Amino acid sequence: MRNITVIGAGTMGNGIAHVFAQNGYPVSLVDINPAGLEKALATIEKNLDRQISKGLIDEDKKKETLGNIQTFTNLKEGVSKAELVIEAATENVDIKLKLFTQLDELCHEDAILATNTSSISITRIGAATQRPDKVIGMHFMNPVPVMKLVEIIRGYATSDVVTANIVALSKDIQKVPTECNDYPGFVANRILMPMINEAIISLFEGVAGVEEIDTIMKLGMAHPMGPLQLADFIGLDVCLSILNVLHEGLGNPKYAPCPLLVNMVRAGKLGVKSGEGFYDYSEGPKAAKVSARFKK
Ligand code: NAD
Repeated sequence: MRNITVIGAGTMGNGIAHVFAQNGYPVSLVDINPAGLEKALATIEKNLDRQISKGLIDEDKKKETLGNIQTFTNLKEGVSKAELVIEAATENVDIKLKLFTQLDELCHEDAILATNTSSISITRIGAATQRPDKVIGMHFMNPVPVMKLVEIIRGYATSDVVTANIVALSKDIQKVPTECNDYPGFVANRILMPMINEAIISLFEGVAGVEEIDTIMKLGMAHPMGPLQLADFIGLDVCLSILNVLHEGLGNPKYAPCPLLVNMVRAGKLGVKSGEGFYDYSEGPKAAKVSARFKK
């Protein structure tokens, strides 16, 4: 596989395009929003400049990487050469099912169709195509150029050959592919989200304050950031929707989202992206302080 198409040029799509292009793969980056494509190219350039300033790459590598990326707003044109499509469009089941039906019609019959979904069933997405054996989850972590893991999710029908190809390709772009099966939340979010939810329940029940919970988990468990701060970075709406997938899909009350999380999402307090969550980001993410609501 050489020709890669990435669908969706948002947070994840630009990172995925960056990593493949930097490793010498020609990448077609597709988004319905032309402004999103421009922003993605600017972000990739900024991130390449950061790699240069850290001495990780040189100017030639930057030029070569940017030269490997072509952008498209037309899906048919964007997938015309694709041997692998990685879908990283908005996390919405209707958008993904429609996209995969279109991709199945437009792509070469041998093309592998991967999705970067955080929570939607790979088996369900595969069933929207005539090639469920060639549909697979490639769950990259944010920020993609920095994080090594790719959670490789096998749908019910994903073939051994396709899985082996995707594992080999992930290694070729310097990532660490790790396989799991298609059940709600896969592995990463099935374990991470209950931890975040428990941190919110601890705050809700008054066990400790925001800073105390985060400090205990950061220093006590050697985590790079506390669970409440991490929830703010992921987006509280995203955390809520993944917990709902776990709760509905596994039918166990232990996954029920904390009422405080539900209320914060209803109030539009979504974390970094809305300027406030458990912390206040009005002076930027690096100058975060505990939100007035949770000050003692
Ligand atoms: P985002 O909102 O930043 O970007 C989504 C992009 O998809 C937008 O630019 C939008 O214009 C585009 N889009 C929507 N419908 C489209 C279509 N039909 N065709 C082409 N482009 C379309 O979202 P994101 O955070 O990059 O998430 C993308 C995917 O990655 C989601 O499935 C999400 O669950 C998953 N994911 C996100 C993270 C994260 O930390 N953000 C981590 C792992 C996985």
